Amino acid sequence: MRRRKRPEYRVRSYKYWARPTRDLPETFWELAHTMRGTWNALVDAREKAEELARKLPKNQQKAFWSAHREACRKIVADSGLNWECGPEILERFETACRMAARAERGWPKRQHEVRSVLIPHYYTGGGISAEVLFGSSSRLPLQPVPAEVYANSKREAVRRRLTRGTFRFAGGSIEFETILHRPLPPGTYIKRCAWTGKHHPVRGWRWFITITVEEPPPPPHQSGKTVAVELGWRVLGDAIRVAMAVDQDCCVQELRLPLNAARAHERRHSLPSHWRDLAVIDAEIAELLNKVRTELHSLFSYLGTMAHPLPTSQGAFVRLLRCLDESGASPEAAAVLRKWKGQNDRLRSIRTCLAERLIGRRRWLYRNFAARLCRNYKTIVLKKVAIQRLNQSRRGLDAAGRYRQWASPGELALYIRQAALSTGTVIHEAESAFSTTTCADCGAQATQTGNVVLTCSNGHTWDQDQNAARNLLSQVHSDSRQLSYLRTRWPQKLEKLPGRK
Ligand SMILES: [Zn+2]
Repeated sequence: MRRRKRPEYRVRSYKYWARPTRDLPETFWELAHTMRGTWNALVDAREKAEELARKLPKNQQKAFWSAHREACRKIVADSGLNWECGPEILERFETACRMAARAERGWPKRQHEVRSVLIPHYYTGGGISAEVLFGSSSRLPLQPVPAEVYANSKREAVRRRLTRGTFRFAGGSIEFETILHRPLPPGTYIKRCAWTGKHHPVRGWRWFITITVEEPPPPPHQSGKTVAVELGWRVLGDAIRVAMAVDQDCCVQELRLPLNAARAHERRHSLPSHWRDLAVIDAEIAELLNKVRTELHSLFSYLGTMAHPLPTSQGAFVRLLRCLDESGASPEAAAVLRKWKGQNDRLRSIRTCLAERLIGRRRWLYRNFAARLCRNYKTIVLKKVAIQRLNQSRRGLDAAGRYRQWASPGELALYIRQAALSTGTVIHEAESAFSTTTCADCGAQATQTGNVVLTCSNGHTWDQDQNAARNLLSQVHSDSRQLSYLRTRWPQKLEKLPGRK
């Protein structure tokens, strides 16, 4: 990797929604198809290589794989893609393979149709300054947006953030409208811009402009204060309490995720808008599947033609329908399946839209909370939350597991860590053992129950999440009551904590 010209600068990406003002040129789709073809060629080459490598002895593997990497480079060089798009595909492919080797994702697969596009443009020589983008830029000229439109969030100001621009690529250009919902900070250098698109199963193509910049390092933090954040998932009324923050001045802040995300539109048309509705729709989908199974079962036994046991998954039924349609066999069964597919598709698209909206709202709430904390505090004490991959099958999840999945405290922890990078906030890792049961006032233990409010053996009564946050906060000092209790009960645990003995 090449050395960066300004290593102290932070690299960040700004993503803006974009809408082409006329049809995308044919050359754009040709480029997208060439990129997909190159990707598929890389996938094929890797699969073939994998097969060959299995037969090779251990000592020849290394040379074989380095020859394979050369072959991949040649595929890209011969693809006809330019110096920007070619390396982009290769890098994306190699990253995907590295992640798959570490079992962080599946191996890259062939793409049968274009579902996502990324056309990059790199600015060489350390990048261009952001002002050039609004002036003489040849690749991505944008009409300037006056600085005062970011002064407030009044409708008038927000409306004026709409602007127009052109994205030029080898072989054509795209004219588009975009909303610059946040300004590029002064003093930034633009390293890369890209036209990206994703095909959504319900809403079709969605387009974005992504601008990758180098930003000056954050100024020294104004406040010297410390805050501790207790993360969790506790249902309180119609919301989940996700975080409880207590700072050194004993100021308490709580973050709740509302379970219902209805706006006027959803209320007026009684549309699903609750996290629980996801579970309801899942149950409906499962019930529909059961019904079609039973129907097919009785139909096939009536016809006496059931050669194989009936499939159980939605995908298998869709494939069965395709087979029946192609062969023309058993039109009655095909009719049953077609009716099921119509209803199933409808439910699934409702579910996709709802899940997207709920998750998007959660993300907005968490990011704002994280940004506010990082702006106001120099140090954040955070306990380690394992970002568990919860059972995604939507079945076999008990109520607590479901609330945890909805609240996703790991996601909030991630956003806090990300926001801390951009404000220069220090994250202090804390130990969570005994943080809920140790009384932050006197150090005595309380008995853990399902109640929010606990009482210690000396009679102090407190909200257990708030108490936990106070205990986490105490860990920045040497006289933490929780840690001294831990030292007597579980000393091995303490040794694992970084920077502490
Ligand atoms: Zn006490």
